[in-house]
Amino acid sequence: MISVSSAPPTSGSSIAAGNLTVLAASASTDSATAPPTEPTASGALLPRCSPEPQLSRARRAANIAAVVVPMIALGAGIALGWHHVLDWRDLVLMCVLYVLPTLGITIGFHRLLTHRAFDAHRVTQYFFAVLGSLAVQGPVIKWVADHRKHHAFSDRDGDPHSPHTNHGPGLLGTLRGLWHAHVGWLFTSVGLADARRYARDLVEDPVMRAINRGFVGFVALTLLLPFAIGWLLTGSFIGALWALVWAGLVRVFLSHHTTWSVNSLCHFLGRRRFTTTDHSRNVAVLALPTLGEAWHNNHHAFPRSAFHGMRWWELDVSGLVIRAMEAVGLAWNVVRIDPERQREKTALPPEPRTAG
Ligand SMILES: [Zn+2]
Ligand SMILES: [Zn+2]
Repeated sequence: MISVSSAPPTSGSSIAAGNLTVLAASASTDSATAPPTEPTASGALLPRCSPEPQLSRARRAANIAAVVVPMIALGAGIALGWHHVLDWRDLVLMCVLYVLPTLGITIGFHRLLTHRAFDAHRVTQYFFAVLGSLAVQGPVIKWVADHRKHHAFSDRDGDPHSPHTNHGPGLLGTLRGLWHAHVGWLFTSVGLADARRYARDLVEDPVMRAINRGFVGFVALTLLLPFAIGWLLTGSFIGALWALVWAGLVRVFLSHHTTWSVNSLCHFLGRRRFTTTDHSRNVAVLALPTLGEAWHNNHHAFPRSAFHGMRWWELDVSGLVIRAMEAVGLAWNVVRIDPERQREKTALPPEPRTAG
C-alpha cells in the first residue's frame, strides 16, 4: 500500500502535479516529451496548451454513429414495446455487460492506466485494457492521453471536454458548455491529445499498442457477444436480435451517458468538498451508475487515489473491486490518501473563475 502523506501541492498546481507525477513516471526523464509549461498567476508551472490537428471527417462520422446508433436502438426498443421483448435474461445480460466493461474503464483505463493508482501484473493491465475497450469509448491509448490532458488543463483552455471554457455567456453559453462536455467534444476534440506526449508509457508497450489498434475488433466483439449469448439462451434469431439491442446497443448507450455525465455534470453541479482550481464536483446520485467515478471533486483533489469515494458512505464500486484485488494479490502499492492530507485540502476558497 502507498499512503500519500506528504504535504499537498499548492492549489495552483494541485491537479497538474498529480497528473504530471504519472507523466514523469511514464516518460522517464526526457523533458522533450513532457508537456511544455507556463507560469500561473500564483507562479506555479502548469502545462501549456499547444495547437492541435482537427478531427478527421471519417473519425467524426464514426463518433456520430457511435453516439446516435445506440440512441436509435433505445428508441426502437421502447417503441416496439419493451415489456414484450425485454425478458429477464436480456436484463441480466445487460447488467453484466454494463458492469464489466465499465469497470474496464473505471479501474483499467482510468485509475490503473491513466493515474497509476495501484500496481498490477502486466497481464492484469492488458486484461483491463481489453475489458475497457468493450465499453466503446475509444482506443485505450487515446482515452488515456485525452484524460491525462483533461487533468493537466482542467477547466482551462486545452481541456478536451470542459463545460467552462469559451462557450459564451448566459444560459445559451451554459447549455453549449454542457453539450460540449457531454457529447460535443466527441465531434471536435476527442483523441487529439498527443499520445507520445501524454501516454508515452502506453505507446512504448507493444501489447498495449496492439490492443489500441484492435479497437474496432473489440467494438464488433462487444456487440457479437450479446447476440451469440442471446441465440444460445433463446435458440432463436429474434431472441438473439433483442439481446443485441438491449445488452449490446442500449447497454453501450447507458454506459456512454453515465461516463459522459462525469465530464459534464460532475464539472457543473454537486458538492465541492476539496480545494481544487477547477470546477469538479461530487454528485452522489451518479455514484452507483458511474461505479464510483462521480466523486469527481475527490478525484481531482487527489488524482492518484485508488478510491474516489473517501468517506464510508461514499459508494465506490470500483474502489471495492480494487480492495478485493488487493486482498487476493492482484493489486499492490494501492494509493490511499491519509485523513490528515484530506483535512488540509478541505477548507474551500472562493469558486474558481469561469473562463469564456
Ligand atoms: Zn474532471
Ligand atoms: Zn482522472
